[in-house]
Amino acid sequence: MRAFRAVGGTPRFMVSGTGPYLTDADGREYVDLVCSWGPMILGHAHPEVTAAVQDAVARGTSFGTPGEGEVALAEEIVARIEPVEQVRLVSSGTEATMSAIRLARGFTGRAKVVKFAGCYHGHVDALLAAAGSGVATFGLPDTPGVTGAQAGDTIVLPYNDLEAVRAAFAAQPGEIACVITEASPGNMGVVPPLDGFNAGLKEICAANGALYISDEVMTGFRTSKAGWYGIDGVRPDLMTFGKVMGGGFPAAAFGGRADVMAHLAPAGPVYQAGTLSGNPVATAAGLAQLRLLDDAAYAKVDAVSAELRSLVGDALTKEGVAHTVSAASNMFSVFFTDEPVRDYEGAKKQEAFRFTAFFHSMLEQGVYLPPSAFESWFVSTAHDAQALERVAAALPAAARAASEAAA
Ligand code: PLP
Repeated sequence: MRAFRAVGGTPRFMVSGTGPYLTDADGREYVDLVCSWGPMILGHAHPEVTAAVQDAVARGTSFGTPGEGEVALAEEIVARIEPVEQVRLVSSGTEATMSAIRLARGFTGRAKVVKFAGCYHGHVDALLAAAGSGVATFGLPDTPGVTGAQAGDTIVLPYNDLEAVRAAFAAQPGEIACVITEASPGNMGVVPPLDGFNAGLKEICAANGALYISDEVMTGFRTSKAGWYGIDGVRPDLMTFGKVMGGGFPAAAFGGRADVMAHLAPAGPVYQAGTLSGNPVATAAGLAQLRLLDDAAYAKVDAVSAELRSLVGDALTKEGVAHTVSAASNMFSVFFTDEPVRDYEGAKKQEAFRFTAFFHSMLEQGVYLPPSAFESWFVSTAHDAQALERVAAALPAAARAASEAAA
């Protein structure tokens, strides 16, 4: 995405960030509505996070031993998210989902994994399969380098379709280890779960001896203090985290039921390890960021998001551009269609060429949007009135460009 493949043109090389702004190598400043794809929820170079990092760096950068920082970060996660009874720190969201799936397979002794088209869980080989439509389509690898064998135990189903999930379980009794889903998807644009979808997944998994894995790498510690779990209250067996919990550094995690986590090495037989896991600098950054994320911080991020959504919606309406602003808490994206979007097929029906025109106009006017119509926009506590005014000033011309765009 950062290569601008979806929108064309020259990617911007950023050299610094402060609060809601990024500065590129040519010295141009942008209001940043990507926030590093989610992590920078306090804005760039927050003084308290920076101080915690500098302090940690000065004490040594990696020990390869247990350390206080990882325990403190683990305790913060467990305190916020009630279903997480035990947690393991890793270095990326990809590692978190990969490890959670290995653990689910080891725990259940089953091979197959259900995922949903349009949900992204990092570049785990087995999860780079989103092809196919209809019920119980077996995953075809999406990329060279992933073999049929690696993706062959992956079942890809349409999102928000509980009937498809029931049918998959009925067709493969006793074979499905887990269902993994984004708690509220942000990787096909923002497409929240329909009422009862996550609860239905949990129920079907429980009835069939499979684990329900909620991927909160994107939503965790962003959509509320307890992430999406804090909003829908559906208790997963395992959860995955990343992005915000690392404070802009490589820190991620997976955790959940203690009886499942007990199967993980060294206590149990399912192997998992990482040289830089629980890294003292990354955990210091993550902990400093999480400690600043109190109720007032979430209220601020929610308010910024609401204001921005209404500014964007009004500008597009004024130019007669068909659109849907789709939100899940403070995450949102703009679909260039007026049909409600509930799955990946629906998301693909939008007029993405209008987004391309909109994106480039905003970029030229100093607003950095996610360079794809299929990504969430992210805001931070640092987006103040001045930053929002800059966005508001850029919107009319961008909406006009979207309206005049041709396929
Ligand atoms: N899961 C979700 C829901 C994500 O959005 C992402 C990244 O965007 C990942 C997993 C992978 O995380 P990472 O890029 O840290 O490997």
